[in-house]
Amino acid sequence: MNLNSTITDDLIVTLDGPAGSGKSTVARQLAKRLGVDFLDTGAMYRGITALCLHHGVDPTTQADEALAIARESKLDFDWQTDPPALYGQGINLTGRLRDADVTGQVSAIAALGPIREILVNAQRVIGKSHPRLVTEGRDQGSVVFPDAQVKFYLVARPQVRAHRRAEQLREAGKEADEQLICQQIIERDHKDSTRKDGPLICPDDALTVDTSEMSLEQVVDHLHQIVMQRLAGV
Ligand code: C5P
Repeated sequence: MNLNSTITDDLIVTLDGPAGSGKSTVARQLAKRLGVDFLDTGAMYRGITALCLHHGVDPTTQADEALAIARESKLDFDWQTDPPALYGQGINLTGRLRDADVTGQVSAIAALGPIREILVNAQRVIGKSHPRLVTEGRDQGSVVFPDAQVKFYLVARPQVRAHRRAEQLREAGKEADEQLICQQIIERDHKDSTRKDGPLICPDDALTVDTSEMSLEQVVDHLHQIVMQRLAGV
């Protein structure tokens, strides 16, 4: 089997899982190895959150205003950059997406059904124009792309996830309190799993991969091998 083969047929691979399970990094590298595009759907929820904060709208108390912003957001990825930069209302939001205030409010945005509807539709439109795609989020295999050819559900122990997130922040030159991050991750998982619309669930036909004891490279190797086997009908 050629482990570096570029995919030419349409292929949607979904990666869902809780916060900090390494989905973004894994999805991005897996996409690169398969020679397909990479969609970070968390960035879209974060983008709407960043726009709300930019306009002084509190997503937890001003749902109508947040919805109006989502409708006017004109979210747009620049597919020429790696990872794709995200623009909203013409503003490059990329540098804001992982800031603590955005992370703290994003679950409130993600719990609003009408905003999910807008973003789910936008993700399906992206899937049509980028039909060879690795996409990651919470509902990609369950709601957005139920017919995806390969579905993964990535999990890891909360402490491991907090450690990884802290390392990412430190690498970006930001402060990181690992214990606090762990608490926030557990809270965010709870909110994401218990909301009514598009909750975080493992799709029945997804393969669960526990990455707690695996390096990034091992996870990417493992997922890549499975995708290639599925494509070969093994
Ligand atoms: O994956 P990331 O941590 O960037 O996601 C940020 C938040 O966006 C999640 O905590 C979740 O509330 C929301 N989200 C979602 N559905 C997705 C992707 C992200 O609800 N498909």
